[in-house]
Amino acid sequence: DALNQSLSELRDIDVSFEFFPPKSEKMEQTLWKSVERLAPLKPSYMSVTYGANSGERDRTHDVVKRIQQQTGVAAVPHLTCVDASRDELRQIAQDYWDSGIRRIVALRGDLPPGVKDTEMYASDLVALLKDVADFDISVAAYPEKHPEAPNAQFDLLNLKRKAEAGASEAISQFFFDTSVFLRFRDRAAAAGIDLDLVPGILPVTNYQTLVKFAGFTNVHVPGFLHKMFDGLDDDDQATRNLIGANIAMDQVKVLAKEGVKHFHFYTLNRSELSYAICHMLGVRAG
Ligand code: FAD
Repeated sequence: DALNQSLSELRDIDVSFEFFPPKSEKMEQTLWKSVERLAPLKPSYMSVTYGANSGERDRTHDVVKRIQQQTGVAAVPHLTCVDASRDELRQIAQDYWDSGIRRIVALRGDLPPGVKDTEMYASDLVALLKDVADFDISVAAYPEKHPEAPNAQFDLLNLKRKAEAGASEAISQFFFDTSVFLRFRDRAAAAGIDLDLVPGILPVTNYQTLVKFAGFTNVHVPGFLHKMFDGLDDDDQATRNLIGANIAMDQVKVLAKEGVKHFHFYTLNRSELSYAICHMLGVRAG
């Protein structure tokens, strides 16, 4: 059909993969198996999250360094500013630059419970990083609005501030209503926001976890997703993976047909679904 036809004509698709620092020996093994499996696809980068307020920064740094050394793929640390002073942030940025890091995902981070305001937002962090060195900077974008933003326009203007402060790319929060992302892309273009808007793809493998996560990130989970996973909670993982891959593949097919050239995968440190979706997009090893 038309979708599969246009898929076979795809060229020059770029991908990136996101991981989180492992918290146990077993998770460590899963992470490195996934990194090794996905690296030959030559992603434009592999990024590593940083748990704001968790004191995890060293672990992020360790994973980033090892990805860089072991795979040769550009490794990209996430950096949050809610939990550090400006001086600390400058020092961290300088250390990253000195160790060969050229891109950073610049974030505010979630506010600690009870805190309503912060001295620094992500746009301030972008400006600080640009002041330290000429990093390529990615920021976060929210097609369905960040939960704290009073309205969608306010949030869009925040994205514009991040672009004007020097970000060159925005990775979207995950989403399932593909039309919401496409409308957001149109609104960003109409607002003169000059950055690459990259859809964040979350291949779902556990519906219950997804529902919890979507709740506090303001992401709408359409009814069809519930229907697709209904009755599979106690089924084997392979069955849920097939369903999750099918949903994500439908999503990327539409996005690719709409001209999207770069996809960012929230791998949750697993490789199976992301690898299969990349293969379908024509992204191959070698
Ligand atoms: P900002 O862009 O600063 O926006 C935060 C909120 O403040 C928005 O509602 C915005 O509209 C509002 N705002 C902005 N400026 C002002 C102002 N001057 N006055 C009042 N309101 C304002 N979290 C982590 O802890 N670690 C990670 O590694 C991580 N990685 C992420 C990766 C991606 C791709 C995404 C989408 C999110 C990630 N997050 C991560 C979550 C992120 O930290 C949270 O969503 C956080 O609440 C907002 O971060 P931000 O960078 O979008 O903030």
